[in-house]
Amino acid sequence: MIQCPECDAAIDLDPDDVDEGDVISCDECGAELQVVSLDPLEVELYEDEDEEEDDEFLEDDDEEGELEEEEDEDDDWR
Ligand SMILES: [Zn+2]
Repeated sequence: MIQCPECDAAIDLDPDDVDEGDVISCDECGAELQVVSLDPLEVELYEDEDEEEDDEFLEDDDEEGELEEEEDEDDDWR
């Protein structure tokens, strides 16, 4: 049993069901909590940085930019 750091609600979390680094959400306030330790069981507020989704968009932009730059460099070298 752990306590939500956001709303102090008791969360019934079985250490066997989670791994370190897992992100769960609080039933009471919906906060995302990351398991930072299994023994003792500890969670911290998970900061949602939207990393995965943003990365996909950024990668698309970067790829186009890099391709254009590489083509310019090739022209200079030739
Ligand atoms: Zn909560």
